[in-house]
Amino acid sequence: MAGLAHPPLDLNGYIRDIPDFPKPGILFKDITPLLSHPRALRESVVRMADLVRDQKIDLVGAAEARGFIFGAPLAMELGVGFVPIRKPGKLPYRRVTQVYDLEYGTDTLEMHSDAVQTGTRILLVDDVLATGGTMKACCDLVRTMGADVVACLFLIELGFLEGRARLEPNQVRSVLSY
Ligand code: AMP
Repeated sequence: MAGLAHPPLDLNGYIRDIPDFPKPGILFKDITPLLSHPRALRESVVRMADLVRDQKIDLVGAAEARGFIFGAPLAMELGVGFVPIRKPGKLPYRRVTQVYDLEYGTDTLEMHSDAVQTGTRILLVDDVLATGGTMKACCDLVRTMGADVVACLFLIELGFLEGRARLEPNQVRSVLSY
């Protein structure tokens, strides 16, 4: 992907706030207007990549589903491969599993056991940093496999939820902050 030929877009203008979704009290950041706009989509990926280009990265990893939207194009932009982190029952080969706590109950993420090696420098990516629970689980999962987390990278950070603190001491980078 080439650099950006135009002055930067205001990406905030392509993110739609949906109050009380998926439940009362949550202000949902809907990125579908951004995804459907070719320049906004490309600029999102390039600006995310710009935040980590100075770092040595072997691989990009992201959890389904919205992490995949930015993870694979970012890997291409950075010239590295992509590794999917998935919900249970989706990966066909040998798996490593991470169970993590939700507000009520638990959830699980999985990776193929040969997806990373000891010392692999992995960049973890998602669309939104909210409480940080999902990204923390991704960090724990790749670390149990011996990989190093270079940074946790997001398009959007909901600062008031303090997900960044939960991800310490990992490096956290985001393009847009609310
Ligand atoms: P987290 O609380 O950081 O574990 O968020 C879990 C996932 O839900 C993230 O990967 C986001 O994609 C998504 N998410 C959480 N809160 C929001 C929100 N307010 N707007 C849009 N997506 C969200």
